Amino acid sequence: MRRKIVAGNWKMNNDLAQTESLISGIRKKLKKTDVEVMIAPPFTNLFAAFEALRQSPIEVVAQNMHYADNGAYTGEISAEMLKSIGISTVILGHSERRAYFGEDDALLAKKVDSALKNQMTIIFCFGEELADRKSENHFKVVENQLKNALFHLPAEAWKNIILAYEPVWAIGTGETASPEQAQEMHYFIRETIAEKYTDKISDYVSILYGGSVKPNNAEEIFSQPDVDGGLIGGASLVAEDFIAIVKAL
Ligand code: PGA
Repeated sequence: MRRKIVAGNWKMNNDLAQTESLISGIRKKLKKTDVEVMIAPPFTNLFAAFEALRQSPIEVVAQNMHYADNGAYTGEISAEMLKSIGISTVILGHSERRAYFGEDDALLAKKVDSALKNQMTIIFCFGEELADRKSENHFKVVENQLKNALFHLPAEAWKNIILAYEPVWAIGTGETASPEQAQEMHYFIRETIAEKYTDKISDYVSILYGGSVKPNNAEEIFSQPDVDGGLIGGASLVAEDFIAIVKAL
């Protein structure tokens, strides 16, 4: 059975007070569920979020990290630091990191290695841009993103990998991939992994969809056989919407 996951990527939103109030809203509304629920607040609020959710099944995850364990990297945070405050899952490769902070596949491969070396789980994000889809290169682009950042890993590393397919043209735009487009790509991703590794690994890995998932479209997207949940941006900032998306899964 694959893990079913809804993860809220808060991005650069919510100060400390807002973090505490959103967490308490989510906790109040979250009923017992077999869905794994995660939230990713900004670094400054990670520890407070972790403390607030100590007795809760909701997992607090980081939005990014550096590949070095420590040293002269002003402004950066390492896997060791995250681990030391109880965080053991990290989002890597988000399209905003790639586009605004120049993170390329080679850098992401180093971050992936560092996270795994530190026994962390990775939510690895990737996805094509609109121009790639228009020129019908989307499968090739996605395949290359996977190959370049993940396919050097040994088979056993995949138990700590969660994938998040996020077509860039659907992130924060209100435009979602249709359920058919999401399914077609998720199936392709699974096939690509099966070719490189084994059917067992490709059947096991959870593939989340991200990009303008909202309460009104979540159920249709999540009903696709190869979609195992979602990485949610905007809608994760409103407790009712986030919970509605968890329920949809
Ligand atoms: P969105 O963001 O739900 O606001 O489109 C998704 C993401 O960036 O992970």
